[in-house]
Amino acid sequence: MKTYARQPIAFTHGEGAWLWSTDGRKYLDGLAGIAVNGLGHNHPKLVKAIADQAAKLIHTSNLYRVVEQELLATRLCELSGMQEAFFCNSGAEANEAAIKLARHYGYKKGIENAKVIVMERAWHGRTLATLAATDSPKAKVGFGELPGGFVRVPYRDFAAIEQASADNPDIQAVLLEVLQGEGGINVADTEYLQELRKLCTAKGWLLMIDEVQSGIGRTGKWFGYQHAGIEPDVITLAKGLGSGVPIGACLAAGAAAGVFTPGTHGTTFGGGPLVSAAALATLNIMAEEGLLEHAEQMGALIRAVLTRELAGVAGVKEIRGRGLMIGVELWKPCAELVAIARDKGLIINVTRDNVVRLLPPLVIKQEEANMLAMDLAPLIKAFLNGAA
Ligand SMILES: *Cc1c(COP(=O)(O)O)cnc(C)c1O
Repeated sequence: MKTYARQPIAFTHGEGAWLWSTDGRKYLDGLAGIAVNGLGHNHPKLVKAIADQAAKLIHTSNLYRVVEQELLATRLCELSGMQEAFFCNSGAEANEAAIKLARHYGYKKGIENAKVIVMERAWHGRTLATLAATDSPKAKVGFGELPGGFVRVPYRDFAAIEQASADNPDIQAVLLEVLQGEGGINVADTEYLQELRKLCTAKGWLLMIDEVQSGIGRTGKWFGYQHAGIEPDVITLAKGLGSGVPIGACLAAGAAAGVFTPGTHGTTFGGGPLVSAAALATLNIMAEEGLLEHAEQMGALIRAVLTRELAGVAGVKEIRGRGLMIGVELWKPCAELVAIARDKGLIINVTRDNVVRLLPPLVIKQEEANMLAMDLAPLIKAFLNGAA
């Protein structure tokens, strides 16, 4: 089905931060499959882990214990400070689980229709409930009545949450990205997140963080919320978790732990041996290769070069982000830049019409990070001049 306006290019193979197209051209990957290929392409240890697991066992069922899934759950809980994990197959499903968990949490407290606070410019997925939680009129049009139970507030506006709380006694949770991806690379500040943590605790609400894009090292820490030193009740993961094999996870702690019991939620494929082995290998390789620190450094480098090269350019509104989640907001729509950059051998993305988004693999080398920024900056400048 024509669900994507696809770019006229296909890739045959890759190596690290490089991709080769069917016509033999080489591209520097500044997008990593939308924050998925953290280890880059063709990482030998990941390839071996997947091949070894495939040779042993690909799927059994969640009717049985799954050793690789248990190991992955334990590792994720160690890294995040969470206590329980539910595995699924995508970011939308991970958030669907979180939303169901919040509703069930309320139900167990005697609230029939628990509500969840969500943010302006949020992106949580395209299933009916996650689409309802998402703030994108374009994605919602034509799909009729979406599930209710969401209260939307402006992002980074603490007073708006207090106001929503006064108006809606059934609120049981807040769901947000600490660093919005699809919404244009918007960073929530530490003070806001800490206030939010305190409010959720005081109200008995679940603080649910969507780390589908910002998690697994992308911002320079395992999870974006760790920059603020807070402990959420629920986090959701997907994109970078399996380095390209489809896996999602919803982790819970504190009051959110123990909410789901046998029969309340499930999925056939979730956390199977193959994807769990790939995710476990991803986490191990990241730790072995020091990729968190590296992501932080490469992100700082790219932002610094872009800031220097684009200094004084009138059409550039802001350069922002954290680690290797970087946005360059322009004063005008710039979707054409994707094709302009591709012609020059750079894979980039534009979100919210006017934000150039970079999500390179975490393994990107210093000279590649420098090249990405040095090659991109003049294209942005020329685009702004030409279109002025
Ligand atoms: C991509 C994304 C999702 C949806 O994940 P899918 O795997 O596409 O369903 C949810 N939340 C955030 C923050 C995302 O970036």
